[in-house]
Amino acid sequence: MRLSELTPGQTGVITKILGHGAFRKRVIEMGFVKGREVTSVLNAPLQDPVKYSIMDYEVSLRRSEGALIEVVSPEEWNAETHDKGHADTEEHDTENQGGFRKDRVINVALIGNPNCGKTSLFNIVSGAHEHVGNYAGVTVGAKAGALRYKGYKFNIVDLPGTYSLSAYSPEELYVMRYLREETPDVIVNVVVASNLERNLYLTSELIDMNRSMVIDLNMYDELKRSGNNLDYSTLGKMLGVPIVPTTASTGEGVEQLLDTVIDVYEMRHKDVRHIHVKMRPEIESAVGILKDAFKKDETIGHHFSPRYLAIKFLEGDPEIERTLSPYDSFPEWKRMRDEEAANVKRELGEDAASAIAGEKYGFIRGALAETMAENEKQEEKSTKIIDSFVTNKLFGFPIFLLVMWLMFWATFQLGSYPMEWIEAGVSWISSLAGTHMPDGPLKDLLLDGIIGGVGGVIVFLPNILILYAFISFMEDSGYMARVAFIMDKLMHRMGLHGKSFIPLVMGFGCNVPAIMSTRIIESKSSRLITILINPFMSCSARIPIYVLLVGAFFPAHGSLIFLGLYLLGIIVAVATAWMLRRFWFKKDETPFVMELPPYRIPTAKATMRNMWAKAKQYLRKMGGLILVASIIIWALSYFPQRTPEDVPAEYLTEALTEMQAVDSIKTDSNDAIALATKEYQQEKSILGEIGHLCEPVVRPLGFDWKISVSLLAGAAAKEVVVSTLGVLYVGDDDADALAKRLKSPSPVSGQPPFTPLKAMVFMVFVLIYFPCIASIAAIVKETGSWKYGAFSIIYNTALAWLLSFIVYRIGLLF
Ligand code: GDP
Ligand code: MG
Repeated sequence: MRLSELTPGQTGVITKILGHGAFRKRVIEMGFVKGREVTSVLNAPLQDPVKYSIMDYEVSLRRSEGALIEVVSPEEWNAETHDKGHADTEEHDTENQGGFRKDRVINVALIGNPNCGKTSLFNIVSGAHEHVGNYAGVTVGAKAGALRYKGYKFNIVDLPGTYSLSAYSPEELYVMRYLREETPDVIVNVVVASNLERNLYLTSELIDMNRSMVIDLNMYDELKRSGNNLDYSTLGKMLGVPIVPTTASTGEGVEQLLDTVIDVYEMRHKDVRHIHVKMRPEIESAVGILKDAFKKDETIGHHFSPRYLAIKFLEGDPEIERTLSPYDSFPEWKRMRDEEAANVKRELGEDAASAIAGEKYGFIRGALAETMAENEKQEEKSTKIIDSFVTNKLFGFPIFLLVMWLMFWATFQLGSYPMEWIEAGVSWISSLAGTHMPDGPLKDLLLDGIIGGVGGVIVFLPNILILYAFISFMEDSGYMARVAFIMDKLMHRMGLHGKSFIPLVMGFGCNVPAIMSTRIIESKSSRLITILINPFMSCSARIPIYVLLVGAFFPAHGSLIFLGLYLLGIIVAVATAWMLRRFWFKKDETPFVMELPPYRIPTAKATMRNMWAKAKQYLRKMGGLILVASIIIWALSYFPQRTPEDVPAEYLTEALTEMQAVDSIKTDSNDAIALATKEYQQEKSILGEIGHLCEPVVRPLGFDWKISVSLLAGAAAKEVVVSTLGVLYVGDDDADALAKRLKSPSPVSGQPPFTPLKAMVFMVFVLIYFPCIASIAAIVKETGSWKYGAFSIIYNTALAWLLSFIVYRIGLLF
């Protein structure tokens, strides 16, 4: 509860003072310290300010100030056992910190540049499985986790990466607003040991902000390997912020980090002090004038220190201007700022923002010169060598294609071995059930519905895991950032940025997180285009369809057809993007730097964790959505049941004549009649009726009603296409793998359900048509408009039809 929430007459006991240093200092001086009772006396006529009584005297605080003081009821206070020895320690107070914090809950925010290992640290500390990747912008939005450690509860928030605290990109704005509104107790500033100079820039801004902070010198393993030597404890003393080396990928140093966070929280760390990053006198005087002007207003520095505000205001930060604009003196401040900025410009010959940045970098370089002993940079050397190949004009694209081909080859070829084992397992279960269960609907449900449906899809688990292993390796090693880099030019041609390519490649895994990851793209229109073309990236749910049909009809050219399909998806995406840019969205270009992180060898542990998470997700989908869908499809195709007497005479004769023509079964046998009955039953079932209704639409593509039903069912999830085929194409031998059932001629018509051409047309259609429900939901959510969801459904399906039609007609010529 916050002090401002007390109603007149209510009493609370102070547990924590939030806000930045100077504000805390002031209220502490007024007697607001931990463990002290405060009573709300009365509200001013306009509800603000509020009069409180504390230590027998009365003070008035604004609501906004009261909102920064945490209180509990006296009963709650007494219920807890408190360390009385620590109750009155005003001498521990420094300008940096205030308040008496023994309530044992520490709110920690992880802040740092993109790709410095914040999420890795977060995962290790909180036991979560958030997405980690070796490129900028993996984390979007804040993720919260918690941990109990040495009697403290850590509430940890993983924030998106940011290079500075200005308001130019959504991430920066997000982090800045988070710091203002959530006032974490301790900031853990994660910095990469191998690139300190740039990382410490953000640190210098956090220092201006004057908050309790610990620096996590992450990737310490790389620093050690590089042979460089950093005297981090001296550096920490220089910055006034304790520095703890860690290796987040293995967890080394994390305990010391947590211990240091506790020390800082308890205000007993000896290195903590507030420093000013001193700048040139011209700038300092301008900052000083603005700061003094702000200080005249009592309420201003609750969340950010006046110095921070003054520096940011001088830089012309739009978010800070927004924050300051409600104040009465804003026009006056602005006038002063403009004058000071003009002074700086005149005297230094550059604008205030770049002058300030220059000063900060100077400060950092200075600090590093004293503490860092650099060695020949081994790591960077190998990165340079690899980069000279993979980002090379000549080799870049062929290498990328090779990597892609390798990915599909592994997915298809390597995956086929474990797939066969699972297939054998499924058919073993199926034949076991077939021989031991009494005939009846229950047996049919189990054999045709559940085993036919779920069993048909579950065999593809290895393929999907292999694909994910590749994507995860590309992300983790840093290759993905290079791919974005070499694609940049191409992407520019269609009005996008190389950055858009990462969500596209991620779409090979699953379109839903890929669509969410487009938040890394600053430009709104580029982001919308990237979202809309994402479903053309063939996601892993479509793999079962390809593996099934490619395995059945094109076993010799598996990886090539795979690659072809994926390329087709990419081409369609590119064309669509180009079209959208040309006819829908106006051009807008946001300049930005694409960072190329050094290569890192992904740890087996992280990869395994990722695989395991994906496998669990897939199995859960099998046991949930796919199982339910299979049962529904089965039920719809099973009822109403028919007996041979129900079959009209002319249908029976026609079927028998056809069978005779193909010569598959003795036409006078009971088997023949049973088969004809089954065929009739399926066709006249509820599902059959629905299928026949849709058939005219897909007839020109050469599809029959069963295929049209499976496509319809695929709207729920693409795997359902396969499970539906599994339920519908029941062969004469139930234990036969689905692939075999699809290509063996039907005993009734003599025609196999699929031909190579049909399989091809079908794969093209499935690649492009209706994204699954989850993707549509993600599109609507991320774009904030159902309009884009509707576009996706209509455009994609129409385009799928058109392309499939073309493929079918061309194919018929041969
Ligand atoms: P974030 O963008 O700051 O959240 O960074 P991530 O947690 O996504 O990590 C970025 C990359 O650095 C990933 O490839 C991690 O596997 C890798 N990484 C993280 N911490 C360490 C570390 O301490 N040592 C090494 N060698 N790699 C790390
Ligand atoms: Mg992250």
